[in-house]
Amino acid sequence: MIARVQPLTRTRAVRGPFDYRLAPGQEDVGVGSLLKVPFGPRTSLGVVVELAEHSELAPDRLAEPEAVVGAGLTPDLVALAEWMAREYCSTPARALQLMLAPGAAAGTGAKLALVAELTAAGRAALADEAARLNDRQRELLTALQDAGPTLASQLGTPSLRRLETRGLVALHDRPRPRRPVRHAVGSASPTAPPLTAEQAAALTELERALRASRAALGEHPGYLLQGVTGSGKTEVYLGAVQAALDAGRSAIVLVPEIALTPQVLWRFQARFGDVVAVLHSALGVGERHDEWMRLRTGEARVCVGPRSAVFAPLANIGLIVIDEEHESSYKHEGDPRYDARTVAARRARQHGAVLAAGSATPRPESVVAMTRLRLAQRVDRRPLPPVQVLDMRDRHQPLHPETRMALADLRRARGKAILLLNRRGWSNFLSCRACGRVWLCPNCEVALVLHRHASFVACHHCGHRERLPDRCPSCASVSVARHGAGTERIEHELREALGSDPAHRFPIFRLDADSSGLNERARTLQAFEAAPAGVLVGTQMVAKGHDFPDVSLGVVLDADQTLRFPDFRAEERTFALITQLAGRTGRGALASRVLVQTLAPDARSIGFAVHHDTDGFIADELGRREALRYPPYASLIRVICSAPEETLARETATAIHAELATLDAAVLGPAPLFRLRSRARSQLVVKATARQPAIDAVGRAVDLIAPGAARRGAAVSVDVDPQ
Ligand code: ADP
Ligand code: ZN
Ligand code: ZN
Repeated sequence: MIARVQPLTRTRAVRGPFDYRLAPGQEDVGVGSLLKVPFGPRTSLGVVVELAEHSELAPDRLAEPEAVVGAGLTPDLVALAEWMAREYCSTPARALQLMLAPGAAAGTGAKLALVAELTAAGRAALADEAARLNDRQRELLTALQDAGPTLASQLGTPSLRRLETRGLVALHDRPRPRRPVRHAVGSASPTAPPLTAEQAAALTELERALRASRAALGEHPGYLLQGVTGSGKTEVYLGAVQAALDAGRSAIVLVPEIALTPQVLWRFQARFGDVVAVLHSALGVGERHDEWMRLRTGEARVCVGPRSAVFAPLANIGLIVIDEEHESSYKHEGDPRYDARTVAARRARQHGAVLAAGSATPRPESVVAMTRLRLAQRVDRRPLPPVQVLDMRDRHQPLHPETRMALADLRRARGKAILLLNRRGWSNFLSCRACGRVWLCPNCEVALVLHRHASFVACHHCGHRERLPDRCPSCASVSVARHGAGTERIEHELREALGSDPAHRFPIFRLDADSSGLNERARTLQAFEAAPAGVLVGTQMVAKGHDFPDVSLGVVLDADQTLRFPDFRAEERTFALITQLAGRTGRGALASRVLVQTLAPDARSIGFAVHHDTDGFIADELGRREALRYPPYASLIRVICSAPEETLARETATAIHAELATLDAAVLGPAPLFRLRSRARSQLVVKATARQPAIDAVGRAVDLIAPGAARRGAAVSVDVDPQ
């Protein structure tokens, strides 16, 4: 038997598959098996993509695989990887690497855990005052007595080994599943509440779809559950997952980021128990590996996780849910630059599964492509909070008087508010008041950003750091200005508005996307949730999915910031931001409202958001996109050529442009981009009505030009459907 193996290398130049002759004892190797194979002078991991009876190579030129490694992939994932390689102008190897069991490539996943347990002799020694034990040993034995079998590494393996030689402790390797700790967050019920009429109607439609033939589902574009915030979309997903399980099938639930919205996960765990596995970016690789194995073996049949969970190794998938489908975190920024929403649609088609995406602010693309189901009412019938626009033109303070008043009221009522600072990071850039010098990153040509409470400026792209200057190196002036409605000023004004009297201190919680880790951010959200009163301040992510029942005031400090980005999604993002913030507000008993500070009070997206008019916004936005030929009326493909020198980057882009001359599409560029990580960059944008021919043509052009350019130091990356 011949196995055709795709070696897992990063280089574009190596294009498998390559033939290997299976050795005796390797009969159960199949499509998807992970093998260690001799590859040139080295060995490499590779995935079997095909089995064949014969090879075109002479038998004496065929090598044998050295070993079968771990659980490998399923054939449907191999097919998905090959499709992804084409769809995103990448390689099968890079797509396959995204799908392997966590740690499989590094070999860490297969390790057994060393577990320590107290023996009868240990128990006796602990009870015996006279036993020869030092404090540390007594402490270890007590810990084992209290906690039962424990991972040796948690207590200190060397000390345990010494106790083992005395027979007081037993140590053994156990494939004990490393189950992630569950976090109960908020109330979640093990049974479904009686559904509202709207929820029942939506669920009935999804259940009906689940009973349809797989072939029919293979053709279906999927469902879009458009429901206002608080309308009970999650309850509909739960019902649909139950229906899939009842039908003997499995389900994937994609969420934007579990650490920031732990309630959603908990609701699935509370309803379905151990049948739920979680692939969570904040889990250790061992835990993720074991959860992955539970999915692979069928022990778990529901996978909840962020975008990479779309590759969950489940068989017989009946349902794929995409929660908050408008979130940009569904787009992967490494190669292949896949969009989990597009991959989910493909995977649903492969399995004949129901695709159900949901959002209060769906993307215009989804509205056009999918079958809409609606939830127009909040479950509790509470109205959406009024949204008020505050004109910031000609104002020189970061807080509008109206905002200051609202905060003062909030303090008196000891309520809770969310303040959204619509910019990346908390920070600002520096410039010299005397000569105008701006501090730029030497590698990336972008402004260095000032970090709060720290004495440095840093680059958000490459991490370059500099000490905060005392004086300007160009003109020696000591007058160095911090720009924008700076953090310090906002904090200062906030403290002023909230009262500086220390006896009435009002807590301010900061959520900083740039300088703190995921777990720290999750802790901040939990602290805010638990606090009886306070203000949560942060960037976009404060408006994401997290459910705070008692927030009565929402403020966007600079709503037009997103509008200034040169991006066709600017309007969509601004609308979603305000609407999602409104959705986080007013779920409790207090009368609530949302304030939107902006320099562009007449912006369309803001106007529609004020009136909670999602349909109006989508209709208007679709008209604009059609006129400008943006998605969904055209597909965009971005090609970025980078090189140490600008000329080479531009030449590479020009050469690719020339290869696309006959393509029936608009090709814009080459346009220079700012340097990133010391590399000059040049960009092409392809705007095509016919998607597949454009993807194929770009893929061919890149394959033709990139290898030659690579020898001289250029690199090419392709982004299909850029965000
Ligand atoms: P969405 O995801 O649409 O914002 P959720 O699913 O989070 O809404 O529901 C909002 C709240 O209403 C949650 O606390 C949920 O437990 C509750 N809820 C949902 N459906 C019902 C129902 N049919 N009866 C009572 N409470 C419900
Ligand atoms: Zn200066
Ligand atoms: Zn930089």
